[in-house]
Amino acid sequence: MSVKDVEALRAENAELRRLLAKHQWAGLTPVKSIGVCPECAGAKPPDGHGHRPGCAVAKVLGEA
Ligand SMILES: [Zn+2]
Repeated sequence: MSVKDVEALRAENAELRRLLAKHQWAGLTPVKSIGVCPECAGAKPPDGHGHRPGCAVAKVLGEA
């Protein structure tokens, strides 16, 4: 791969990570709910406990 290809992949990766982080608590929830992860249905911290163990979204974002 050329340097240009690597840079393009890095830019795409950064954009995908930005979007995933932005929408990680955008799962369908009841009105007034704090939001849940669309992948594992874990509730958004600090009120909730965050992603459930093994959540793929948390793994990609580098969270515990
Ligand atoms: Zn999750």
